[in-house]
Amino acid sequence: MTRSETLIAQTEKYGAHNYKPLPVVIAEAEGCWVTDVDGKRYMDMLSAYSALNQGHRHPRIIAAMQQQLERVTLTSRAFYNDQLGNLCEDLVQLTGLDRVLPMNSGAEGVETALKAARKWGYEVKGVAPNQAEIIVFSGNFHGRTISIVSFSTEEQNRAGFGPLTPGFHVVPFGDAAAFEAAITPNTVGVLFEPIQGEGGVIMPPKGFLRDLREICTKHRVLMIADEIQVGLGRTGKMFCYQHEDVKPDMLILGKALGGGLYPVSAVVGIEEVMAVFRPGDHGSTFGGNPLACAVACESLRVLEDEKLAERAAEMGAYFCERLVAMNSPHVQEVRGMGLLIGVQIKKSAGLAKPYCYAMMGEGVLAKDTHEQVIRFAPPLVITKEELDWALERIERVLCGEALVKQAA
Ligand SMILES: *Cc1c(COP(=O)(O)O)cnc(C)c1O
Repeated sequence: MTRSETLIAQTEKYGAHNYKPLPVVIAEAEGCWVTDVDGKRYMDMLSAYSALNQGHRHPRIIAAMQQQLERVTLTSRAFYNDQLGNLCEDLVQLTGLDRVLPMNSGAEGVETALKAARKWGYEVKGVAPNQAEIIVFSGNFHGRTISIVSFSTEEQNRAGFGPLTPGFHVVPFGDAAAFEAAITPNTVGVLFEPIQGEGGVIMPPKGFLRDLREICTKHRVLMIADEIQVGLGRTGKMFCYQHEDVKPDMLILGKALGGGLYPVSAVVGIEEVMAVFRPGDHGSTFGGNPLACAVACESLRVLEDEKLAERAAEMGAYFCERLVAMNSPHVQEVRGMGLLIGVQIKKSAGLAKPYCYAMMGEGVLAKDTHEQVIRFAPPLVITKEELDWALERIERVLCGEALVKQAA
């Protein structure tokens, strides 16, 4: 057995089987590149689902983390620390919202926003106890807790995990009229992804976010943007909602907020909502710890200093243009925004998975989502030369029949 095979066998023997990874065992990484235990190099075109927007092991973020490691790493929120204030101030300045509540994983950020919306509903909007409703969209992905999977429209996400949490109402993604029609006096919020990443890089119709904003204001419903995947530069703006010049009432961030080094998430919201949290209402032992905050502050600074949103816009447009120009007989559609790109494989050309296996063979790591879609989301630090290197290999797979057949 190769070293890779041995390690895969070990992981499969002792680990729970809740993932089915591509058979590559990564041992080292830098920028857009990873190296497996057998010394083979690959370009990372997944970026840990956009948690690596700044690239693997960004030297500035590593330095910030190392500096903080030498000082203090964990205090709990029983005490103040000298880093949390900086992160809160940075996020408030960046978003124009009022207050920040730090957590660790994305799902915890989503849970925090849901709790805030319900409590705001009871205390501010005047909804009767336990009657709050939150509207969500079909095809959503917001994480894996029991409450969050309760409103997933993917059967597999819910199956076997009941009893599920009530209080959620699903309407078709991109359908603002259906959203407005679903609002009742008990509706406290709408939770949405500006682009559905896990759902298969699904873009709503133009004007959807503006419509949501208008309807939310009209009916006094909180607009809650989950930008855990599409935020922080990925789509060509710091936040995806900026493409339509709107501002949500609550914004959930995660993934790239931790710069690929450390799990950090946060809810940023307007005063009226964030004020519902009083001491003891909600919390997290690790949320807002000084190591997380130092890493997150530097991760944000890197995005700004290296103008990574602008780079995503520029490189993404080039990437899309080249993918379309390949004119692959297997591709139905290329869609996306910035460096979040979905390549929809024709039903007649099989599933997306064998294409991902074939690309892995060529040295490009990407993952299929929703059977027919290959998602390309490289680190935003990618250069044109690196993109050209990958495109040459992607073209071999998308346009070369033999390779695909062999991999399938
Ligand atoms: C990844 C993701 C989450 C969940 O984040 P975790 O850190 O895995 O809990 C929530 N929402 C969206 C849109 C995501 O992409």
